[in-house]
Parts: sequence; structure tokens; C-alpha cells
Amino acid sequence: MQISEKQLALVNERLQAIIGSDNYFGKMYRELGITEVKTVEDFQKLPFVDKAELRNAYPLGIQAVPDSEIVRIHSSSGTTGKPVIIPYTAKDVDDWATMFARCYETAGITKDDRIQITPGYGLWTAGIGFQAGCEKLGAMAIPMGPGNTEKQLQMMQDLKSTVICATSSYALLLAEEINGRGLKDKICLKKGVIGSERWSDKKREYIANELGIELYDIYGLTEIYGPGIGVNCKDQKGMHYWDDYLYIEIIDPVTGKNVEDGEEGEIVITTLVKEGAPLLRFRTHDLSRIIPGECPCGSRYPRLDVIKGRSDDMFKVHGVNMFPSQVEELLGTVDGVSSEYKIDIAHDEEKNRDVILLTVEAEGRVSFDRTGALIQSAFKSKIGVTPKVTVVPVGTLPRSEKKTKRVFDHRDE
Ligand code: ZN
Repeated sequence: MQISEKQLALVNERLQAIIGSDNYFGKMYRELGITEVKTVEDFQKLPFVDKAELRNAYPLGIQAVPDSEIVRIHSSSGTTGKPVIIPYTAKDVDDWATMFARCYETAGITKDDRIQITPGYGLWTAGIGFQAGCEKLGAMAIPMGPGNTEKQLQMMQDLKSTVICATSSYALLLAEEINGRGLKDKICLKKGVIGSERWSDKKREYIANELGIELYDIYGLTEIYGPGIGVNCKDQKGMHYWDDYLYIEIIDPVTGKNVEDGEEGEIVITTLVKEGAPLLRFRTHDLSRIIPGECPCGSRYPRLDVIKGRSDDMFKVHGVNMFPSQVEELLGTVDGVSSEYKIDIAHDEEKNRDVILLTVEAEGRVSFDRTGALIQSAFKSKIGVTPKVTVVPVGTLPRSEKKTKRVFDHRDE
């Protein structure tokens, strides 16, 4: 999507603020001789920013305002290396809440709703983002945080929660518990707002049916405020995002070139008004596409398609590139198989070749042997590689309150 004149002017303002602050990126732009952004060509000359650079600037090297203006920091969970610290001004915190409230509104949630918030509170941006948006909207927040399923179910019944906010894995766990305990008639949930982790249609259907609720995907990442920068509308045709706060472009993850609207690639985000830590052309490594045209819901905000996976989640075995989303789609077509799975990639020393060990869950009513063989041949024909398949009973694989890691590569160990 072409950047507008208005967005260009905002990018230039951010660039001036960054250069003026002489922060990590201010120095970088100065060294590159970048002084202003007036045209689309100027914009396209801005280098991409990657998470590794944010780590280099640890702890507060990307701060672009004086300390006195910072009211809060958040940190993205670093599974490897240093974490990334993002400083926020009061305006950043307020803008984020405004965007999040807009997400709730887009999902048809009003101030009469009671929102049970299960994502974690603390350094990361999840819980507090859901909370601030809820308060901005004027709804009742039930700030549970993660875990303690007993208490979650108790509060859900006693306080008559109408909205549940959770990761897809935790929503699945709650749905299974509610189903297992026969509580469906005792809960008042109408909608679920689910973190933007890639999840399968099968899992979505299960949660929606078991809980009898509508589901909305919320998008966001700590480097860019946090969750709340985009959400599905009732028409469920992609996620609207807030182009008055962000400019989003899609690039080919390998060449770095912009792709046409409608084509898949990596999401790159530019913050248009962020003060504490403005970022220009930040590579998210999330894969999606811009959906061209207008949404049937009538919203003027542009749309991203569901997140297809992460460019760095891609795994390669015998020269074949694979994404977890392909595995999810494949499992979705097999009867009696749950949406949970785990992939281990290892090197078999004896045969001197890489092997894929796929663990999937199946219901007891289907033959475990036959299901395993079925998945193995479907994998071979659709993805081109033959995995070793282990079928375990439903509920065996771990359900996580955070994003679930599904692919484990043991080849470097
Ligand atoms: Zn819409």
C-alpha cells in the first residue's frame, strides 16, 4: 500500500525527532547521510530496522526523548540473547490504549461488557495492553493474568464475564475444561479476543463451538506498542489496522523488495506518532499480506490477512522450506486429530541424514496406527518430506499460556 502524503509528513517528523535525539538510530541516519523524508523515494531509501539492532541498543539506546518524558518501559521476551527494552511516553501509553479500545469496538465490544484478561502482566506488553484498552473503552476489566484455571472458571461464572482475552492455546485449554466439567450453560461468554499467534481453523472452530463464542484475532508486538494495533471485524475478512498510527508495508523477506497488495510477504511497520521509541521500517518477521479493496463491514481502515507464520519459523529439511502453517493445514484435514502438534528435527548419525519427528494428538475413537500412516503419506505428498509420526492421546502435548513453540531443531546441539 502506497504511503500517503500525510503519512510521509509524519514519518519526516519522526525522523527529525530521532536525528535530533542523537539516539542509536539518530547516529545511524546521520552516518548514512539521511536528513529528511519528503518523497516516496526518500522513504524507500530508509534502511530496514531489525530486532538485532534493538538488542545492540540495549538498554535504552533507542529512547528518543529526555528521561523526564518516559513514564514506562516494556520488554520483549528474548528467547535468545539480550531482551529489547522499549520506553514509552505518556502519549505513547495513551495512544496505545486508544488503538486497543478501537480493537474492542471493532469486535463489537462495548462498555457494558466484562472483559476477563488472562494474558500476563509485567514487563511484556500483553495483559496491561488489554487492560488499558478495556478501561479506555469503559468496560469492566477482570485482570486475572495467566494460569490458575480453577479461579479463572470461578470468576468467569461469578462475575459473568462476557469477553475472554487469551492466547489461542490458553483459550483451548479453557474450552476443554469448560467442556469437560459441563459448565457451558453456566458461563456468559460471547466473544473471545485472541493474541495474534498463528493458529489453525480447526482450533478456532473447536474453541468457538465449545464456548459458543465469536473469536477475534488481535495483532501487535512489543516493539510497536504491543497487542492492539489491528483486529478482525465481524466480517472476519482479515484484520483492520490503524493507519493513522502506523504505516505498514509488505516485503519479500529474501530480497527486501516491496510486493504488490494482495501478495504474501513480511510485515514491515513504521510508527507515525510514537515518541519514546519511534521505529522506521521495522521488520516484524511476521508473514501476511495486505488484503486489497474495501471490507464489507464498511470500515475505512486497511486490512492485513491472518498471520501465516514467521519468516524465522521457517524450517528447512533436505532442502525443502516448510512453515508450521502448512503442517497445521495438513492436520486440519485428518479426522480425529487435534490442532496441537510438535515437530522435532534431528540428525540421524547412523543414516547421516536429517529426520523430522512429528508428534500429533488423536482421539481414542480413531486408530492411532492408521492415523499415523495417513498423516505420514499426506505429509510426503503435500510437503515432499517423510516424517516419523508419533500419535498420542488428546491432551498429552503441553498447552501454554504464552505462545506455544512447536518446532524444535536439535541439529545444532
Ligand atoms: Zn471489516
